[in-house]
Amino acid sequence: MIKTLKGKITLVYTCLVLMIAVIGTASVLNLYTLSKAIDGLMVNNYKSINAISYMLEAFERQDSAALIYINVDVQKGIALFTQNGNEFMKWYVVASNNITELGEEELLDDINKDYMEYSTLFSKLQEVRNKEGLDKSAYFYDTVMMPEFVKIKNEMREITHLNEIGMFNSKDDATKSTHDSMYGILMLSALAVMGGFMISIHFTKRFMEPLDTLTKRIKSVKVGNWNQQINIVTRDEIGDLSTEFNNMTKRLHQYEQSALGKLMTEKNKSLAIVKSIPEPLIVLDTAYRIILLNDTCEMFFDIQEEKVLKKHFLEAIRNGEIFEIISDAYESKLEMNDKIIRIEQKEEFYFNVIVTMIRDAESRVTGLIVLLKNVTQLKQLEKARTDFVSTISHEFKTPMTSIMMGTSMMLDGSMGDLNEEQRDVLDTIKEDGEQLTKLVNDLLELSRIEAGKFVFNMEPCSINSVIDNSVKQFTIQAAHKNVSINTRIEENLPKVSMDHERITWVFNNLISNALKYTSSGDEIFIDAFIKDEKMYASVKDTGIGIPEDFQEKIFDKYVQVKGQDLEARGTGIGLAVVKEIINTHGGEIWCESKLDTGSTFTFKIPLSFAEVSDEKSFGG
Ligand code: ADP
Repeated sequence: MIKTLKGKITLVYTCLVLMIAVIGTASVLNLYTLSKAIDGLMVNNYKSINAISYMLEAFERQDSAALIYINVDVQKGIALFTQNGNEFMKWYVVASNNITELGEEELLDDINKDYMEYSTLFSKLQEVRNKEGLDKSAYFYDTVMMPEFVKIKNEMREITHLNEIGMFNSKDDATKSTHDSMYGILMLSALAVMGGFMISIHFTKRFMEPLDTLTKRIKSVKVGNWNQQINIVTRDEIGDLSTEFNNMTKRLHQYEQSALGKLMTEKNKSLAIVKSIPEPLIVLDTAYRIILLNDTCEMFFDIQEEKVLKKHFLEAIRNGEIFEIISDAYESKLEMNDKIIRIEQKEEFYFNVIVTMIRDAESRVTGLIVLLKNVTQLKQLEKARTDFVSTISHEFKTPMTSIMMGTSMMLDGSMGDLNEEQRDVLDTIKEDGEQLTKLVNDLLELSRIEAGKFVFNMEPCSINSVIDNSVKQFTIQAAHKNVSINTRIEENLPKVSMDHERITWVFNNLISNALKYTSSGDEIFIDAFIKDEKMYASVKDTGIGIPEDFQEKIFDKYVQVKGQDLEARGTGIGLAVVKEIINTHGGEIWCESKLDTGSTFTFKIPLSFAEVSDEKSFGG
């Protein structure tokens, strides 16, 4: 029994090759036998005809020899007769050794007998010639010898005729055998073709069947059905392959079972953690369908996980604001954690919406985790702080005004002359008072904006007049410090929709800072121009500059650059207020700076901006 696939295939091929060899050999043998048969038959007939023809020739010459004997020369006649008699017998032997046809032997026997008779007649002729003379011998020749001569000749013709018929029969037989062998070979070929075809189909099916099964099972494994076993029927290479496949799937299945167990434990653990998070948490797929909700979320939005699973986020939680944040995060593929929303239920809640992407091994986003971090308490604290600052600042304002007024009155002499020392003290009080007033004003401004209570008065304004107004306030101070202020405003600028007072406030702050951080001989440049439907304005100085890591931070509250001259320091609030104002105008502000070279503060606001929110949320 052949076990290997290689052996089986070799066997099939050997069978086919053997079949071809058998057909080939059979054909060659057939053709050979046929040609031999034709050859034999034809040649033997031909040999007989040939021998008879030579016998006939010799016999006719003997007849002539008899005539020569009678009429011409006795000696020559006898010699010729004897010579041709030998020739005749030579060919007779050939003919009698080559009997092929029925009746040929009998005819040859007759010829032999008659020829003996004829030879005896020639001896008698000699006697008649010697005893009775020429005429009698001629008469003997005509009446006795001639009939015998004709008889023998006829017998010979008959043999020739027999062989001619034999030749024709041989030809017919050969034709018949040719046809027979042709049909035989055809039949054999047809059988071989059919046999080969059937062997091929049978073995191909036998070999391919297990391979087909194997392929199907492998495909099934590919899609995750690891518990696949093949019924092994062969012991060849396919059998070995199937055994290995069975071992592999068995192991995979075992691994799946153990990995699945571990995975389930881990999943349950993660699920328990997620469920116990005290903030609302939602897991979505990339089509925003709900995959998971935690208990807090169910409670807060009054929904049940099993009822909203696989449903669109908005079907479960009808909050467009949260959905917009989620979809923005998904579209930009960026994590989101700085959007604060307000949800009004029985009470007011503030949530920081934190959106995190779930990514697969190829970093493709496959889902989203939305955590609503409750910042209501922080918000309340912030509000309390803002209210407090606002109240304190407000309470500070009136006494500060009286202090400043009193100081000014004393300094301008309306309350009597002051000596040098008193003047110095009052000057210091005035300077510190101005500083304090600025701080109070800044704090008030900021707390109003943050509380969203400030109503911006938007109207079309000329930026030239805003800048002029602002610059005017610093002319004396700048001259005093020997710093030049240059304005480079594009001509014919259109009016821009803005709160005149707030934008003046912005310029005041920026110019005041520029002056603060420059020294004698430095320059300040104020530029304004229009580009892409936006107004760009910048305040540039050639002062001390700001370190790179502070250039963004200085817009936050209470941030001041470390290491700068303490005398020059202010409150650290100004730029925070400036940023709030610019943001509220739908614009942006940024700073570019190089240490010891100078700083440029640039902002851009849209030419017309109507949407001024009075519901602005701090930090949002
Ligand atoms: P302050 O009242 O302290 O000036 P700001 O918010 O206006 O508060 O500015 C914050 C900080 O930014 C300043 O304390 C200062 O360190 C830095 N700063 C602002 N403008 C400039 C400038 N033109 N050159 C250098 N530093 C500056």
